[in-house]
Amino acid sequence: MADILTIIVPCYNEEEVLPETAKELGSILEDLVDQNKVSPKSKILFVNDGSKDKTWKLISRYSKDYPYVTGLKFARNYGHQNALLAGMKTAVRYSDMIITIDADLQDDVKAIYQMVDQYLDGVDVVYGVRNSRETDTFFKRRTALAYYGLMKKLGVHLVPDSADYRLLSKRATEALLQYQERNLFLRGMVPLVGYQSATVYYPRKERFAGESKYPLGKMLHFALDGITSFSIAPIQLILVLGILTTSISILMMIYVCVAKMLGHVITGWASLMISIWLLGGIQLISVSVIGEYVGKIFTEVKHRPRYNIEDENYSDKMEKD
Ligand code: UDP
Ligand code: MG
Repeated sequence: MADILTIIVPCYNEEEVLPETAKELGSILEDLVDQNKVSPKSKILFVNDGSKDKTWKLISRYSKDYPYVTGLKFARNYGHQNALLAGMKTAVRYSDMIITIDADLQDDVKAIYQMVDQYLDGVDVVYGVRNSRETDTFFKRRTALAYYGLMKKLGVHLVPDSADYRLLSKRATEALLQYQERNLFLRGMVPLVGYQSATVYYPRKERFAGESKYPLGKMLHFALDGITSFSIAPIQLILVLGILTTSISILMMIYVCVAKMLGHVITGWASLMISIWLLGGIQLISVSVIGEYVGKIFTEVKHRPRYNIEDENYSDKMEKD
């Protein structure tokens, strides 16, 4: 019997693309079953992340029409990363491998064939890596590049240009689910799991329909989250900053003493003003950097549930199969 695959698709207000997504993923799944590479019990699991449009209606309808389509409904919007996590947690019990892919068809669905082939060769983690960013704006390309460079300097291992399009084996998924953090940055966590990994390259396209659910603000927040969830380098940098300003102030002290001895003491307004503003600025930045981490600790220690599932038909279907 071939291994069971579950394709997890997070959806937030995706009514415009969902029909096409369901069609394309469905035909690939049927193909894989025909080729006997995955089990006929394999499924697509759409995770509805609190959509306000007809997304859940469509998912429910497809669940009735197609034996391989299933859905999970969040009680409200909990975010992309939580949607992926909930999908994995639900699917891992019944699946031997899991693929996560965005609903908007920006990632080439055909790469799924290669991912499954790699899995069948014994690889546990297969990263989907885009080999071109032509469809991204110049700004997004540059900032992404700078970001990967910065993360590397901070000692965080990321696979450049890989998003949340990847295959995980059952044991890799189980290992990933052991990570208990609330501040999720899955693309940083997956490399921590280890196991043998491989990469599949694909060209990234434009969104099929609808608009991005990651506006600039949300993306910046996500990027910052990635840094502060994985590295305490910013806090360590404060020490360097402190040493630097202390050294400068020692020089200032010598300068002030010499100036006093030489009798030029009326000046000083300028240097005083500069020191006040400079030191005040450095202190505020430092406090806010520490605050960012205290905030992280705050959300972690509360141990709140990461999401609340309102409805789900995946388990039922799997039990019946
Ligand atoms: N998404 C989600 N919850 C959110 C925001 C986005 O589940 O709060 C899903 C969205 O439906 C899509 C994926 O996450 O399947 C990626 O979002 P999008 O394509 O808008 O991001 P971009 O590709 O522009 O970075
Ligand atoms: Mg997208």
